[in-house]
Amino acid sequence: MQHISVIGGGTMGNGIAHVFAQYGFQVSLIDVQQAALDKAIATISKNLDRQVAKGSLTEAEKEATLQRIQLFTQLEGGVAKADLVVEAATENVDLKLRIFREMDATAPDAAILATNTSSISITQIAAATKRPAQVIGMHFMNPVPVMKLVEVIRGYATSDAVTATIMDLSRRLEKTPVEVNDYPGFVANRILMPMINEAIYTLYEGVSGVHEIDTVMKLGMAHPMGPLQLADFIGLDVCLAILRVLHDGFGQPKYAPCPLLVNMVMAGKLGAKKGEGFYVYTPGSKELVVSPSFK
Ligand code: NAD
Repeated sequence: MQHISVIGGGTMGNGIAHVFAQYGFQVSLIDVQQAALDKAIATISKNLDRQVAKGSLTEAEKEATLQRIQLFTQLEGGVAKADLVVEAATENVDLKLRIFREMDATAPDAAILATNTSSISITQIAAATKRPAQVIGMHFMNPVPVMKLVEVIRGYATSDAVTATIMDLSRRLEKTPVEVNDYPGFVANRILMPMINEAIYTLYEGVSGVHEIDTVMKLGMAHPMGPLQLADFIGLDVCLAILRVLHDGFGQPKYAPCPLLVNMVMAGKLGAKKGEGFYVYTPGSKELVVSPSFK
C-alpha cells in the first residue's frame, strides 16, 4: 500500500490527506473545486506548522509531507495509481453513488474503495460497484490529525482480507481502529446523535438552558464538550441528516429529530461554520457565548 487517493478536500478530506502524507504515503487529493484544494493545502500547511511548533514534527518532515501531496480537479487522473481511495466528499447519497461508479471504472482493479461517510449505508455504496468485497467504511473523526479513532465499517460483502488491510493501515497511522458492522449510524453516530437530539429536546421543552445543559454533561459526565456545543461543531445540518438516516433506517420514533433542530437548520443556523447555532462564534474569539435566541 503506497498510493492513497482522497476524494473531497473539505474539513475531513484535508485531514485525511494530511495524516496519510505525514506517515509517508503518496497522496492524490481530488476536489471538484480548485478553491477547495487551495484552502485544503493552506489548512494542512497551517496544521503542520502547529505540529512543528509543538516539537512533534521537524521543519524538514513538514516540507516532505507537503511534497507527498498532489492536487487534482479530475477524478480520473487522481485515482489512476491508487492502492486505496478514501472518499470524503459531501454527505449526499446520490453524489456518493455516482463517485463510486466512476471510481470503480477508473481506479485499478485491485484498489480498495473506502468511504468516510458518517451515516450512509456501506452496503448500498458497495452495490453501486463491481467490487463490493473491496468496499469498506473508513470513518475518521474530526479533527483527523488529532483524533485517534477510526471506525472501520464492514458492508454486507466486505471481505475479511480487505477489513484486515484497513485495520492494519489505521494502526500504521497511529490510530486505533474499531471494527463494526453496517447498520444505520454504525456505532459512533448511533449513540452520539440520540444524545445530542435529547439535549436539544431538553432545551426545547424548557427543562434548562444552553449553558446549563452543556455544563451538566461537561462537569457531570466528564465530556470535554457539552452536546449542544458539539452539535454546533459538527454542524446542525449534518446532525439532522444523520438523525434522518437513523429514523428512516430503524423506523422508530425515538430517532425523530427534535422540531427545534429542524427549525434551526431551516433558518440557516448551522453552528460554528455559519457563525451561529446554540452559540454565536466570532472569528479569533474562543469565548463561548450563548446565541441571543436562547437567552
Ligand atoms: P465538506 O463539505 O467540508 O467537504 C466536502 C468536499 O467535497 C467539498 O470540498 C466539495 O467541493 C467536495 N466535493 C463535492 N463533490 C465532489 C466530487 N464529485 N468530487 C470531489 N470532491 C467533491 O464535508 P466534510 O465535513 O469534510 O465531510 C465529508 C465526509 O466526511 C462526509 O461524508 C461526512 O459525513 C463525513 N464526516 C464528516 C465529519 C465532520 O465532523 N465534518 C466527521 C466524520 C465524517
